[in-house]
Amino acid sequence: MASIEKLLSGFKRFHQYYFGDDSHLYDSMRDGQPAKTLMVACCDSRVDPAILTDCDPGDLFTIRNVANLIPPCVCDGHHHGTSAALEFAINSLEVENIIVMGHANCGGIKALWEDDSSISSQFIQPWMSIAQPAKDKVLATMPNASDAEGIKACEQASILVSLDNLLSFSCVKERLEQGSLSLHGWYFDIPQGALSRFNPASGLFELVAIEK
Ligand SMILES: [Zn+2]
Repeated sequence: MASIEKLLSGFKRFHQYYFGDDSHLYDSMRDGQPAKTLMVACCDSRVDPAILTDCDPGDLFTIRNVANLIPPCVCDGHHHGTSAALEFAINSLEVENIIVMGHANCGGIKALWEDDSSISSQFIQPWMSIAQPAKDKVLATMPNASDAEGIKACEQASILVSLDNLLSFSCVKERLEQGSLSLHGWYFDIPQGALSRFNPASGLFELVAIEK
């Protein structure tokens, strides 16, 4: 059974580090958060954006949901948590970068790819339908792909679907036109421990070099 004590002792170390001898970091954020980057990441416990990028509190404004998806902008008065957080990041924090970070072995994308109707879910399948255009594209362009190849391609293509969907939000579009916002697609390969960035010029996810 997961230990709550482990989490509480972790909080003690956090408190000592950030509020111990030098509380300058949190003092500087008493009246607001300074984050200028929005990271959209999966809920998956292996892909914590702040850990992966070695960030401090206040560096990243983060949206985490199943399969790091941005839905299209729909104004129907329903409960749109991701869209609400996006709107706040753009209009209130005035973030300068939005990074959509997908990852390998994503359970959400696997469920979409396998179209497993035996999964008892009221919410996951409708949510994952946001990425259906990614699956359709992979099926059309890689008809002979193995499941592993198809899933990886779908994980990456869904990042591009989310980047496209960002453009359906007028607040995002306006900031892009002003030149005060840039969009990025990242892919974290968990087994390889490798990070790739989408290069619009090549149309490919390209490895970020790690200097040792
Ligand atoms: Zn995932």
